[in-house]
This record gives sequence, C-alpha cells and structure tokens, in this order.
Amino acid sequence: MAPQGSRAELEFGGPLGAAALMLLLPATMFHLLLVARSGPARLLGPPPYLPELEELWSPWALLLCLTWLGLQAGLYLLPARKVAEGQELKDKSRLRYPINGNPIYDFFLGRELNPRICSFDFKYFCELRPGLIGWVLINLALLMQEAELRGSPSLAMWLVNAFQLLYVGDALWHEEAVLTTMDIIHDGFGFMLAFGDLAWVPFTYSLQAQFLLYHPEPLGLPLASVICLINAVGYYIFRGANSQKNTFRKNPSDPRVADLETISTATGRRLLVSGWWGMVRHPNYLGDLIMALAWSLPCGVSHLLPYFYLLYFTALLVHREARDEQQCLQKYGLAWHAYCQRVPYRIVPYIY
Ligand code: NDP
Repeated sequence: MAPQGSRAELEFGGPLGAAALMLLLPATMFHLLLVARSGPARLLGPPPYLPELEELWSPWALLLCLTWLGLQAGLYLLPARKVAEGQELKDKSRLRYPINGNPIYDFFLGRELNPRICSFDFKYFCELRPGLIGWVLINLALLMQEAELRGSPSLAMWLVNAFQLLYVGDALWHEEAVLTTMDIIHDGFGFMLAFGDLAWVPFTYSLQAQFLLYHPEPLGLPLASVICLINAVGYYIFRGANSQKNTFRKNPSDPRVADLETISTATGRRLLVSGWWGMVRHPNYLGDLIMALAWSLPCGVSHLLPYFYLLYFTALLVHREARDEQQCLQKYGLAWHAYCQRVPYRIVPYIY
C-alpha cells in the first residue's frame, strides 16, 4: 500500500475538499437540528433562526458529554471481555513515514491508523460505543418526550425507534465485524471519523425522531406493516451479505460458505462470486439503503427533511463504494477485473 498522504492517492478532493468538508459537516448538522424544530421544517431553506452564542454553550451539556464518554470508556476497559484479533500486518514490508503531508488533509483523514494508549484504541472505541449507543438514547429521549407531550408515543415514533434500535443492536452484537471494515483497516483517526462517530451519527441519524416530535405524523396499521416489511427485507440483505463475507474471510471452509463459487487472486485470498456477493458487488450497501428508506417513510411525504439521511447515505455509499473498488483494484488487479465482469452491478442490480 502506498503511504497515506502521497499525492497520487489523495481522497475526498485532497486538502481543499477536506477543508470544505470540515466546515460543511458541522454546519449541516446544526442546520438540520435547527430546521427539524421549526414549523416549516424546510431542508433546503435558510435556518429558521441562528442561536445566540450563549445558547450553544452549557457547562452541564459539556459535563454530560464527558460523563457519557467516561462511562463508555470505563465499560470499554472492563476486563471481562473477549479479545478479538485484528487484520494481519505484513511483517515483511517496511514502515513508511510520509514527510510532506498536508496538515488540513491529514487532520481530516488522520495520520495515525490505530492511535492507542496501552490497550485503549481510540478509533475502535469511537466507532461503536459513545455515538451509536448515544443515537439510541437520543431516540429514546425523544420518544419519552413525545409521550409527555401527547400522552403516548406515536406509531411512527415507535417504528423509527424500533428500526434504529435493531440496527444499533445488530452492530453491537456483531462488534467483531467492525475489525474488517474500511474505517478500521484503511482510514486514519482524524476529524472525519472523530466528528462522524461522536457528533454526526448521534445528532443527524436521530433526525427522523426529532422531526416526529415537532411534526407528528399519523400512520395507519396497513402502511406501518408495509414499512416494517421494507425494513425486514433491507435487514435480511444487509445481515446476510455482511455475515456471508465475514464468515468466508474468517474460515473459507466453513460449511455455510464452503459451497459458494469463488475466484482466486494473486494475494492468495479468494473473492466470492456467488451468493450475495454474486448479485452485486456491494449487497450490504443495498440492504443498508433499503433500511434507510424504511426509517424515513414513517415521517410521511410532506417534508424532505426526514429523507435527508437517505439522500446523504446514498451519496456516502456511492462514494465509499468507489473508494473500496479503487482499493480492491490495487489489491487484486486482474482478479478484480474478472470479478467486475462476472458481477457487473455495484449496488443495485440492473441499475447501478
Ligand atoms: P465492506 O464490508 O463492504 O467491505 C469491503 C471489503 O470486502 C473489500 O475491501 C474487500 O476486502 C471485501 N470484499 C469485497 N468484495 C468481496 C467479495 N466478492 N468476496 C470477498 N470479499 C470481498 O466495507 P464497509 O466498511 O464499507 O461496510 C461495512 C458495513 O457497514 C456495510 O454494511 C455498510 O453498509 C455499513 N456502513 C454503515 C455506515 C453508516 O453510517 N450507517 C457507514 C459505512 C458503512 P478484502 O478482500 O480485503 O477482505
């Protein structure tokens, strides 16, 4: 792998793109939170009002955040836990140290791949615990606030809470699978992951519940059942695809995957070309997107705002898929071309 920060490899539009994203992401997050509380809830309009600086600062909020992080860090450090092994390092290769990195780009993507103090791995800790569990807690708080406000939580609020709880519960249940994701293997721990995991995920992923609190949406049982079905289909594809690849990567002769067709690569690792990974090249993204649709539908179709997650997530996954393809092409060369010929669609069969 070429050193991170070498000019040929700059991602996210290089330093300029990184600088723009570091301004745009926090600004978008504040915009969404302000808009979700306003009557018209216009995704594309100007924010309804700009809060005073004092409104943005509260020592109690800071204390709450630090306590939450401290609690999660304490739980993370508990000795009663299984220790999983990460990806194998190539011992024969030399370590490379990029000297002329761009400070903005490096701050955004992170220079250090696995920053640690003793066994406390900052990136791994932030990936799942404070932000993902925080998202569920914010959702739950909004559900309780709705119950206080209107006597009981709405069906739409129940669905959004249940779907997202399933998603987070699944991520925690399959915690070990995070070790094979791009975030852990490829991306450094910079602004992108720190802000993404700790702020963007809990506050923008809970946007549907925030929207429902301020804009109640009547939802009948028949439509609710259809939405549940859509979420179930999405989850089935998402879980099926992720588990199939993880099982295969852990032990290719596991009976659950041993019969699947594969092609060999020069690295010795094989690529699945049947099963979920024979349908499209990123079936897990397809399932994730179908679930994203199911999370927005309970909010009705009168506003674009609750569909923000679906739109943003489509852009994120299309970009992520392109990055992953680039990395796989570098890793597997001709074998990757053969896989692309065999499985021509990236995320959505016959469409993309
Ligand atoms: P993936 O789990 O999609 O992993 C990609 C890697 O899988 C490739 O680099 C390659 O690595 C391996 N691979 C690709 N094709 C094959 C094949 N045919 N056979 C065997 N191995 C193959 O990566 P992500 O980290 O992007 O996604 C993980 C999950 O997280 C997804 O379900 C995604 O939807 C979800 N996600 C959710 C986000 C959110 O905000 N909610 C954000 C980002 C991701 P190798 O060959 O080295 O094993």
